[in-house]
Amino acid sequence: MRAMSIAQHLPAPLHRLAVQTVYGALNVLRPMPLPATGATLSLNACFHTERLDDDAVFATLLAWCRDFRAITGVGAWLCVMTPEGSMIRDRLARSGFEAERYGERVRALADVAEIGYHGHYVTADGQPAAGGRFTIEAAQDQIRAEISWLRELDLAPQIYTGGWWVVSPELLTALAAEGIRLDCSTRGQQSGTFGDRYPGAIPGVGERFELVPPVVEIASLPYFAMPWARYRRLVASGIPDLGDRPQWAVLPLHDYSLVGIPRDDLDIVRQLSRLPYVRWVTASEAIYPNAPEWRADAVVTPG
Ligand SMILES: [Zn+2]
Repeated sequence: MRAMSIAQHLPAPLHRLAVQTVYGALNVLRPMPLPATGATLSLNACFHTERLDDDAVFATLLAWCRDFRAITGVGAWLCVMTPEGSMIRDRLARSGFEAERYGERVRALADVAEIGYHGHYVTADGQPAAGGRFTIEAAQDQIRAEISWLRELDLAPQIYTGGWWVVSPELLTALAAEGIRLDCSTRGQQSGTFGDRYPGAIPGVGERFELVPPVVEIASLPYFAMPWARYRRLVASGIPDLGDRPQWAVLPLHDYSLVGIPRDDLDIVRQLSRLPYVRWVTASEAIYPNAPEWRADAVVTPG
């Protein structure tokens, strides 16, 4: 690790090269194990989409989603915040960015990606509604208004991911009533940003399960903007038992994290695509994996 601490003092390109070299060497020594024959690892990227009013973020995300679809054959999952939530509404009001224009950007992204909902709820005094401050009473109206706003764009969001990784049975019940069927807010045994624990004992990353039927849970891996050699190790340690059963996970990232970094994130997508057991799935394939109309290689739901 001494090499890594020295590397931190190098200029950015040299630092990046040093990190890739060290992790590349480690990866040769301890490669990610292949699963038993017949197993599948079903994946998609899941964006916490928060800065669509930023021209560079929007343009970069749109280009990224086109490239992602060309590589994987499916649309990335973009869970978006909307002007019906106070955080976006207040920011648009300050900058003069019109909600209609924000909606046009969501529509443009819907042509190349799957649009879901990213919920950030704040208390009356503007504090994150997390860490014991979350109440469904305070969030309920916002959930309805935001999903209605997306429906008015002719979208029917099925995917959800929680701001600050907040999720609770009451929240999932409210989301299910608005048509959400897939939640990517859990992270195995990790807590939310403010230390919230998920209800009861939940399965580890890699499992597909339900906390509140009919909402399917697919857990998030770590944020994926990093060199492949390093991320590969995180996938291998995050899903330790690929075993002989189907496994499921999402690769999360914030939209604004795409700006100003080299395109290693797409390298990760390309590298994962080369693994024989990886398949990229639509939200409907994740929610209804046994439906006969999906691909011939559709897998069986873990029992
Ligand atoms: Zn967020």
